[in-house]
Amino acid sequence: MAKGLLIVLSGPSGVGKGTVCTELRHRMPELVYSVSATTRQPRLGEENGVNYFFKSKEQFLEMIENDQFLEYAQYVDNFYGTPREFVEQTIQSGKDIILEIEVQGALKVKEKFPEGVFVFLLPPSIDVLKDRISGRGTENQATIDHRMSVAIDEINLLEYYDYAVVNDEIDQACKRIESIIIAEHCKVSN
Ligand code: ADP
Ligand code: 5GP
Repeated sequence: MAKGLLIVLSGPSGVGKGTVCTELRHRMPELVYSVSATTRQPRLGEENGVNYFFKSKEQFLEMIENDQFLEYAQYVDNFYGTPREFVEQTIQSGKDIILEIEVQGALKVKEKFPEGVFVFLLPPSIDVLKDRISGRGTENQATIDHRMSVAIDEINLLEYYDYAVVNDEIDQACKRIESIIIAEHCKVSN
């Protein structure tokens, strides 16, 4: 049986990764979504096991010790990691899986899965990115500033990705990602 695609979606905080992934899950119900573990506090409305597996720092470090992560990274003040077994089993079973992760983690995944499909979501402009991250209202100003400074470093790593998708309109951004997935399935090598 053909393996599923491993799709990595990265992009600066506030660009709309979560929003686009939620919409993609409606449009492509067969696409599996990897739920990450994090030490960050849940935001209002976020559910354990749905948005993230929320862990204490001790629990997260134990998961690292037990080799339970495909990759993990420290981002701003917290740890984030992709549970390894779920990703491997999903691909083996022939299903496509999408990982919504930041760039350090994405580059580690690329070392292990060079055949993965690496998509970078870009804002229409830096000003729009600032407005989106502030408008979400989930972080204090110090965290927003920290995330914005990281954003520039992240965008500078765009060259390591296969595709760049501008998230101007959610509908358009989703259509572009859907098209990428369809095209990847049509590759002779797949
Ligand atoms: P990320 O997951 O990349 O940090 P979010 O999905 O939380 O970003 O989006 C950040 C904010 O921007 C949210 O308030 C969301 O509603 C808004 N947003 C996302 N995509 C768009 C878009 N294409 N146009 C306008 N607002 C958007
Ligand atoms: P947030 O706190 O806004 O949910 O996420 C912060 C950043 O961490 C985002 O860029 C998000 O994509 C990234 N992230 C979420 N899960 C993971 C993961 O499992 N691994 C890595 N490396 N980054 C992640």
